[in-house]
Amino acid sequence: MINSLKTIAVFGVNFTGNYRYPMAVAFDKAAHEIGVNLVYMNFIGRVGTYGNATFSPERYGDHELDFLDAIDLDRFDGIIFDGDFNNLPNLEDRMTEKLRTAKCPVVSISTYVEGFHNVVFDDIGGFRQVVEHLLDHHHFTKIGFMSGYLTHPDAQGRLKEFQRIMRSRGLPENGAGFFEGDFWFNKGDAAAEYFLSLPERPEAIVCANDYMAISLVSALKQRGIRVPEDIAVTGFDGLADGQNIILPHLTTASRQQDELASSVLRAMIALIDKDTEKFDVTVRSRMIINHSCGCRKVDYRIETGKIDEAYKKNRHFNYHLLDAEAALLRLNKVDDFEKLGDVFRDRAVNFGDYKSFFLMLYTDSEGRISCSSDFDKPTHSFSPVIWIDKNDEYAKPEGCLADGDPLPHSSDERPHTFILTSVHTAESIFGYAAIEMDNDGSSREFYILWLMILSMQLETLQKNDRINRLIESLESKSLSDDLTGAYNRRGFYKMAMETMPDDNTPISTFVIDIDRLKRINDEYGHYEGDASIRAAARIIQSCCDNGEICGRTGGDEFSVFARGLDEEGAQRFIERLREETERYCDKEGKPYSLSMSCGYCTAQAGTHIDEMLKVSDYRMYEQKSKGRE
Ligand code: GH3
Ligand code: MG
Repeated sequence: MINSLKTIAVFGVNFTGNYRYPMAVAFDKAAHEIGVNLVYMNFIGRVGTYGNATFSPERYGDHELDFLDAIDLDRFDGIIFDGDFNNLPNLEDRMTEKLRTAKCPVVSISTYVEGFHNVVFDDIGGFRQVVEHLLDHHHFTKIGFMSGYLTHPDAQGRLKEFQRIMRSRGLPENGAGFFEGDFWFNKGDAAAEYFLSLPERPEAIVCANDYMAISLVSALKQRGIRVPEDIAVTGFDGLADGQNIILPHLTTASRQQDELASSVLRAMIALIDKDTEKFDVTVRSRMIINHSCGCRKVDYRIETGKIDEAYKKNRHFNYHLLDAEAALLRLNKVDDFEKLGDVFRDRAVNFGDYKSFFLMLYTDSEGRISCSSDFDKPTHSFSPVIWIDKNDEYAKPEGCLADGDPLPHSSDERPHTFILTSVHTAESIFGYAAIEMDNDGSSREFYILWLMILSMQLETLQKNDRINRLIESLESKSLSDDLTGAYNRRGFYKMAMETMPDDNTPISTFVIDIDRLKRINDEYGHYEGDASIRAAARIIQSCCDNGEICGRTGGDEFSVFARGLDEEGAQRFIERLREETERYCDKEGKPYSLSMSCGYCTAQAGTHIDEMLKVSDYRMYEQKSKGRE
C-alpha cells in the first residue's frame, strides 16, 4: 500500500458531495492526527437531483459494481462502511456482500449491519433536545411537525419520538399538525400552505431535517410570515448552509462529526492491533441553538462577514464552472489518450489544489488498455495513463500496478488521503481515478463533473479508434480480392501508381492468364476452378518477393507491376514463374496440369501503365496462340 502506515478504506457514495463533506473533513483531520492513511472508495450511485419532479435521477450505470469487484480488500488494514445510500439497493447489497468477505475489521458508521462492528448513534437524543427546548424553554404548546418521507427509517424514528414527547406532555400526538415532506427542498411551499391553513396557526414547526427546514423558512418568508417572531422553525443535521447562509440560522441538532471520526478511527486501530475484540462507540448528537427558535438574535456584523464569505465561495464556484467548460473544449480536442494528462496538468483544468492525480485504466490479458477498441475483458491490473505527482513522491511502475493494489507507493511516511472513483460512462468502464487533495477540498463538488468529462472523452477516443480501424479494414477490403487475397483491379492500379519511380529506372508489367480454365471448370467443377485461381495467385505471389505488385485484374487473369526490372529481369521473372508452376504441378499431382500464359512489357518509369498492360496482354495472347503450357 501507500507507505508503512495503516491504510483504512472508507466505502460509500458521494464523498465529494455537499452532504458528506463535513464528515469527510472530520475523518481527514482525525486520520492525520492519528497517523493512518485514508482511502475513500467513492461510488457515484446516482446522477441528478432526486426529488425534482421534472428531472429524474439517473443511476450511473452498473459499471460501478465492476469497480467494486476489482478491489482487493486484503490491501486494507481496516474498512469503514458508510451505508446511507438513499435508495440504491443494488449497490448497497453488493457492497455489503463484498465487505462481508473482508478479513480485516469492518465498521459501519451510518446504518446497522449484521456482522459488522456498528457505531451506535444517539440521533434521537439530539432531536429530543430540540423538541424539548421548544416546549420547556419557549413554552410553546402548538408545535407542528414536518416529517421526512415515511418509508425512510430515520423519518419513522423521528416521528415516533415526536409523538412520544407530545403524548408525555398531554398534547395531541401529532402536535398542532403533521405534514409529510421529502427530506429535500421540494415540499416547502406545500408545507407552508398546509400549516397556514390550520384553524390555529402553530407557534413552532419541527422539521425532521435541515433541507426541509430551509425550504419551509423560505416559503413562510415569501408569505409574509416572520421566522421566528411569528412561527419558530427547527431543523436536524446541522448542515453548514443552515448555520452560515440562510437567515435566520437554524436551531437544529447535529451528529458530532469530529467525535465520530476520531472515536471510530481509534477503535478501529485497537481492533486491527487486536488490543480488543469489542467495538463500543456511541456517537451523540447535540442541539445547536441559533436564530430560528428565537433564542439568538441576528447580529448583522457577523452576518455581513458570512455573506462576504459566501459571495467569495460563489465566485470560486463560478470560476470552477468556467474551468469545466474550458476543459470540456480542450479535452474534446485530445485525439490520443496519452495527451489527456497534459490537459489535466494544465491550469485550465482545476479541481482545487491537489497533491496528486492518477488515472488508472483497466488492461486486458493481452495488455491492451480499456480505451482501445479491441479491448477484451478487464483483468485486475491497471495501467497508469495520467500520472500527476506534484511532489515527486510516488514510484511510477514500469507497466501495470501490482495486481489488486489500487495505489502507488509513496516515499513519504505522512498520512495520505485519497479519493478513488470509478471512471466510466453508461456504456463502458475504463478504470478509476485517484486524487489526493491538498486543501479543504472546497471544489471537491466539481470533481465528479471532471471525471464524467474525462470518461466521455475516453469513450470518444475508444469510438474513434473503432471507426479508424473500421475505415482501415474497409479500405484494405476495397483494394483486395476476396478469392485470392491479392490486390483487385483498383488495388493493383493504386499500388502500382504509388510505387512508380520518379526517375528513369526501368519498369516492367506482366499479364498472366490461366490456360483453359473453362475446361477445368467443366470437367472438375467450379470449386476446382476456384482452387486453380487461388493456386495461380500463390504461385505468382511467390515470384513477387522483391516488391512487385500483383493483382487479380480479371476472372483468371493477373497483372504484375515491377519497378527496377529491365528486359533481362523480366525474362528471369517469367522463367521463375514457369519453374514455380511446374513445381506446383509435380507436388500436387492433379489429374490436369495447371499452366499459364504470360506476356510482358519493359519500359522507362513514367510510361503509361495502361499502354504497358496493353502490350503485355497482346503478347500474352501471342504466347497462348503459339501454344499453351
Ligand atoms: P484460355 O486458355 O483461352 O485462357 O481459356 P480459358 O478457359 O481460361 O478462357 P478465358 O481465359 O478466356 O476465360 C476465363 C474463364 O475462366 C471464364 C470462366 O469460365 C472462368 N472463370 C472466370 N472467373 C472465374 C472464377 O472466379 N471462378 C471459376 N471457377 N472460374 C472462373
Ligand atoms: Mg484463361
